[in-house]
Amino acid sequence: MKKTVSFSKNSTNVFFHILTKCNLKCRHCYINPEHHGKETLSISVIDAWLKEFAGKSSESNVIFLGGEPTLHPDLPLAVKKARKMGYNSITIDTNGYLFHDFIEKVLPEDLDYISFSLDGATKETNDMIRGSGSFDICTSGIRKAISKGFNTSLIYTVSSLNIHELEMMVPFVKKLGINRLFIQVLGIRGKSVESQNDMMQVSRERWASVVPSVAEKIADSGIIVSYPKVFLDIDEQFECAGVVADNYFIFPNGRVYRCPLCEDFSIHSMAFENNKIVLTEKINENDFFQLQIPEGCVMNKIIQPDNLTYTSNGSPEYKIACCLLKEEISN
Ligand code: SF4
Ligand code: SF4
Repeated sequence: MKKTVSFSKNSTNVFFHILTKCNLKCRHCYINPEHHGKETLSISVIDAWLKEFAGKSSESNVIFLGGEPTLHPDLPLAVKKARKMGYNSITIDTNGYLFHDFIEKVLPEDLDYISFSLDGATKETNDMIRGSGSFDICTSGIRKAISKGFNTSLIYTVSSLNIHELEMMVPFVKKLGINRLFIQVLGIRGKSVESQNDMMQVSRERWASVVPSVAEKIADSGIIVSYPKVFLDIDEQFECAGVVADNYFIFPNGRVYRCPLCEDFSIHSMAFENNKIVLTEKINENDFFQLQIPEGCVMNKIIQPDNLTYTSNGSPEYKIACCLLKEEISN
């Protein structure tokens, strides 16, 4: 069954970057120390910031990220604290290195998902994007997590460097035994992509001809697959998650964004001050969310206008969806 996952204000999603340090240097990394900070948050700060969002709506979900979150020695404690606070789901996004014996210090009931990032079905492609040795370590981390009874998911960020291997992921993920696959699209974010992003982005035609059909095939093997909708027909409804959803992207320097595309700019709408959330002054991302344009996402038009094409009378041929809008297939 294929469905568009609709936005809701009834669930709060906290994307909590507890540090920006990482052992890898992936070519598409979106971490930007200038805008995200270089700090590693102490467990007392993590505790205080988690409390700000726990119970905010009928369902609160937290995803711990970095950098590489398992480089934080107190991640197991942060997970247990989040569970105690009543977060409905807790996920760790990791590159698979699982530092500090992370997997030995948490139990499958502590975590809803461990989500691993892999960007190729072969060592050659993945390691060219994510770094030498990362394929073997990540896949061995996945196998270890599965053998210990954890729910696992995989994040595959599609770019021109690896779209040719997406089809190969069909048997590969089935063999690995993961529960979910998240196909992502490369966004123009972060220091490391500044010089090479145009080369790495895939065209609308290529995306449309590969991603939905591969997603269907993977779903047929019993794995739940999500991928961003990216493009909307001109008569489809556009919604901005900054307006109709309740997402918070928290960084160690205290900035809190409502939109991932805004994260490379100092236009965050919230920030932590003395461990409490405060609203920032105008102009900030909220002001952009209110603008309604025929092209759909305002931030896309500002930072990656090459994604758009126009008819001879100047109207856009399609809209760009919110980057957080997902299709989900479970067969
Ligand atoms: S994408 Fe993730 S794993 Fe790769 S360098 Fe950035 S933070 Fe590290
Ligand atoms: S990606 Fe675009 S549509 Fe989505 S929250 Fe950001 S500005 Fe809004």
